[in-house]
Amino acid sequence: MKDILYLVIPCYNEEEVLKETAKRVFEKINIMIKNNIISNESKILFVNDGSKDKTWSIIEDLHSRNNVFSGINLSRNRGHQNALLAGLMIAKEFADMIISLDADLQDDINVIDKFVEQYYSGSDIVYGVRCSRETDTFFKRTTALAFYKLMKNLGVDMVYNHADYRLMSKRALEGLDQFKEVNLFLRGMVPLIGYKYSIVEYERHERFAGESKYPLKKMIAFALDGITSLSVKPIRIITGIGFTIFLLSILALIYSIAVNFLGNTITGWTSLTISIWMLGGIQLLCIGVIGEYIGKIYCETKKRPRFIISDKLIKNEIKNT
Ligand code: UDP
Ligand code: MG
Repeated sequence: MKDILYLVIPCYNEEEVLKETAKRVFEKINIMIKNNIISNESKILFVNDGSKDKTWSIIEDLHSRNNVFSGINLSRNRGHQNALLAGLMIAKEFADMIISLDADLQDDINVIDKFVEQYYSGSDIVYGVRCSRETDTFFKRTTALAFYKLMKNLGVDMVYNHADYRLMSKRALEGLDQFKEVNLFLRGMVPLIGYKYSIVEYERHERFAGESKYPLKKMIAFALDGITSLSVKPIRIITGIGFTIFLLSILALIYSIAVNFLGNTITGWTSLTISIWMLGGIQLLCIGVIGEYIGKIYCETKKRPRFIISDKLIKNEIKNT
C-alpha cells in the first residue's frame, strides 16, 4: 500500500486558471496512482481564499464530478500564507505527504515525482527551488535577490530561491502545527521544524492566465512580516546606532566645551541644525522599527484565529462548520 498524497492549492480569484490547473494536476495524480507511486486515496485540495469571482463554484463543480477534487472555503480573504496553512492543516488529517503549489501553474508539476521519490527515500521536507528567474521581471528578480541577502544577513535560515512549492510529511506538518504564531511566513518557519530535508530544482513558468495576486504593496508587507517574525536583529541594529551616536556625542561635548573656552560660541548653527534633523530622523525611524515589533506582539497576544473555514468538501461529504 502506497502513501497518500494531497496537493494543496490556495486560490484567490483564480477562475481563469482553475479548470486548466485542475485538469493538469488530475492527469498527473492519475498517472502516479496508476503507476502505483501513490495511494488511490490521494487527492487535490483547493483552498478558496475568499475569492470574489467564481472560484468556489468551480471547486464545488469539480468535486461533484469527481471526489479526487476536494475543497475548503475560507470565510473571507486571509492572504496566501493563511490560506495555505488552512489547507495544510486540514490535509494533514488525511494524508501521509502533502505538496503545496500555486494555482497559476507557475510551479512545474512534472517534478512532483521527484518530490515523492525524495519523500520515499526518507526526507520529511522537500523544497522546490527555482533554477533560474528568467520568467520574472527585472524588478522582481532584483528585489527578491536583495531580500534573500538581507534575510541571510539578519541571521534567518531560508532556502535560497524557494517559495512555497514544497512537500512536507505528516509529521513535519504536525511540527508546523505547534507554531502558533499569527504572523505567518511559512518559508522561514519550515526550516525551523527540523527533520531531514532535500532540494529539487525546477523551472518556474509564466503565470498561465490572469494577473498576479501579489501587488507591490502586498509584497512589501510580506517581506516585512518575514523580517519581523524571524529576526530581532533590526532592534539590535538600533541599539548599535544609539551606542555610536552616544560615543559621537561625547566627542561633540568635548568639542563644544573646548570651543566655549576659546570664545568662538557664535559659530555652529549649521552643525546644530544638522544634528536636530538627523537625530530627529533617526529617532523616528528607530521608533518606527520598534513599533513594528510591538504591533506584531499586539497581534500575537490577541491569538485571533489564523483562518475560519466556512465549508469543507472532503471525502465525498459536505461538512459545514
Ligand atoms: N493567493 C491566495 N490569497 C491571496 C493572494 C494569493 O490564496 O490573497 C494565491 C493565488 O491564488 C496563487 C498563490 O497564492 O495560487 C500565489 O499568488 P500569485 O500567483 O498571484 O503570486 P505570484 O506568483 O505573482 O508571486
Ligand atoms: Mg503566481
